[in-house]
Amino acid sequence: MTSSFPDPSIISRVPGGPKRLGHKCSNFECAARGTDTTLKVCARCKAVKYCSRECQTKDWKNHKPACTNNAEHAAQLAQADQSGILAHSLPQGITLTDLDQRLEKWIKFHNSTLMAATIHALALPRDIKRSRTHIVRMQVSYREDNNGAPGKFFRVDGAEAIEMDEAGRLGGAWPESLVQIGKLREESEKRRMGTVAAIGVECYPLAVQIVPFGSLRDLSPLEIVKGWEQVLKRDVQNAKKFTRFGP
Ligand SMILES: [Zn+2]
Ligand SMILES: [Zn+2]
Repeated sequence: MTSSFPDPSIISRVPGGPKRLGHKCSNFECAARGTDTTLKVCARCKAVKYCSRECQTKDWKNHKPACTNNAEHAAQLAQADQSGILAHSLPQGITLTDLDQRLEKWIKFHNSTLMAATIHALALPRDIKRSRTHIVRMQVSYREDNNGAPGKFFRVDGAEAIEMDEAGRLGGAWPESLVQIGKLREESEKRRMGTVAAIGVECYPLAVQIVPFGSLRDLSPLEIVKGWEQVLKRDVQNAKKFTRFGP
């Protein structure tokens, strides 16, 4: 059974590296929603959107760290590409910057599917508070047979729910990303905007990309899909646009 589902386009805030675009003004205090054309993108990092100049100014102290991080992230990738240091671990004819941009497009394409998988993997319908103690760790790899379709850029090799403590011990970009997710969740809960659950996407040789899903409230009417990992792998493999999550 699948049932009503929280709006997937809710979280647009960036916890450090990853970039997320939503259809809501990124100023937490503003409820304005819009389309790609009515919301204006942050010119520096292009990762968040605002309904007005006023909202952008108001949100700047929140957004500044992530904005700086996004800009630095892009510069670091470009530098690594120039040095050729990771070229041997990249798919043929693809730069690190390409891989990063394709991963971002792929995440955007599958955002709702990833959100659904996270909800079921973390068993949030049973206990929404597990968003605080657990996270999904997912490995993906690049598909040579993608034919330029963003939904087919990557395949899911594996996914599992793990405890935050365990994720923290994975090293790399994990510990810092978890701190940022923690802050994001705290702020969201404090503002009574629901909780934030997350998935960490590992795509070697890129750093882990944490994708947050926000505005999660009581999910108890939802029946947990036990075979969520198989559903996730299948729907991603088929580049299926999300409609429902289930076998
Ligand atoms: Zn606004
Ligand atoms: Zn920015």
